[in-house]
Amino acid sequence: MDPSADTLQRLRETFRSGRTRPAEFRASQLKALGRFLQENKQLLQEALARDLRKSAFEGDLSEIITCQNEVDLALKNLHTWMKDQPVAKNLLTQLSSAFIRKEPFGLVLIIAPWNYPVNLTLIPLVGALAAGNCVVLKPSEISKGTEKVLAEVLPRYLDQSCFAVVLGGPEETGQLLEHKFDYIFFTGSPRVGKIVMAAAAKHLTPVTLELGGKNPCYVDDDCDPQTVANRVALFRYFNTGQTCVAPDYILCSPETQARLLPALQSAISRFYGDDPRGSPDLGRIINHKHFQRRPLCPAAPTVLVDVRDTEPVMQEEIFGPILPILNVRGLDEAIDFINRREKPLALYAFSNNSQVGPDRGGHGRVHKCETSRVPFPGHLGASGGMGRYHGEFSFDTFSHHRACLLSHSDLEKLNEIRYPPYSDWNQRL
Ligand code: NAD
Repeated sequence: MDPSADTLQRLRETFRSGRTRPAEFRASQLKALGRFLQENKQLLQEALARDLRKSAFEGDLSEIITCQNEVDLALKNLHTWMKDQPVAKNLLTQLSSAFIRKEPFGLVLIIAPWNYPVNLTLIPLVGALAAGNCVVLKPSEISKGTEKVLAEVLPRYLDQSCFAVVLGGPEETGQLLEHKFDYIFFTGSPRVGKIVMAAAAKHLTPVTLELGGKNPCYVDDDCDPQTVANRVALFRYFNTGQTCVAPDYILCSPETQARLLPALQSAISRFYGDDPRGSPDLGRIINHKHFQRRPLCPAAPTVLVDVRDTEPVMQEEIFGPILPILNVRGLDEAIDFINRREKPLALYAFSNNSQVGPDRGGHGRVHKCETSRVPFPGHLGASGGMGRYHGEFSFDTFSHHRACLLSHSDLEKLNEIRYPPYSDWNQRL
């Protein structure tokens, strides 16, 4: 671990020199990141297999290719994203040029979790580099295989005068957070999110917090149970349930529960065979501590029926392959149930009824939509966090939007109208 002032000082000096600002430099770093992903694909796949028993396909799909797409998008759009944005003028600014300039913040800290250790570390990095910042990357100490590749191989690709990887767990990250950064981007649990925000507050550093929570999944009576079961099972058991946007629990009527249960059993055995624990397509819980988090936590996909909201499994994010089903009497009760809780990071609704959709009241909205063209996840408070990223939203997150007004010095006569004393103001207009 080297949270030393020296490393941070070096990065700060680079930023002050202006080295990271030109589009050419930013593009060179993004290209280098793309090369890192391509040339070390196998190494990353092996690390993901060691950390989470991810299959090569799952690792490619949810981590490596996703990052590569993000790099490609940033490279394609960098010049457009960097352009000054003209703004409408008023009477006083009519003769000036008024625009918004997107400037890098300076020294950025990115703190990442272990569940998608490539994706959630490198996608924020793409945005930070595209926006022209210097970056300290703090990968999760828990996904050790990936942490090693990121610490040992990635710095060989990026310009080390403006990029550093710092290693460590809670204690070392706490020390790192004592330093002043110009922006902090954190992905992890709400508990640690509060620690990060408190540390940032000491320096009044702006933050993005990508947190977790319980994501409801409402299933209407009119749905085809097998279609719902296939989709819910995929997202609930993908990465062994260790996905921040996975459906955490189902809300449906007792009749729909009765239809869903055999459909879920069928989906699970088709996806993972009769002995899912031996399936090469089901990963593993990251470590013993997380496996032990709740006595209920099995390694294999599990469905719990007739669950009440007072039961332990409903008190915090599950982050494992368990799917509780709670009974509600219709859409209104489901919306009420959801609205009485923290605003969820993601929300799933299955229905053929056009009444069930993004326009329905409160925060009971369809909210699961992940591509680089939409913001992820938006401002959601204690459960989802604050800030947004992916694609251009990442670029904007890591840029200060500076208001600029260029006033011409040869128009002094016109300016005089604004100068005191104002006793004769009605003769000026
Ligand atoms: P975590 O909060 O335990 O750790 C995240 C990072 O914070 C790690 O790098 C860790 O080293 C550091 N950290 C841990 N304790 C710390 C402390 N006391 N002080 C300073 N730093 C500390 O989260 P995790 O277990 O790695 O990840 C799982 C959580 O992340 C879940 O809650 C999940 O929902 C959430 N998550 C959110 C998103 C999202 O995009 N919103 C994505 C993935 C995971």
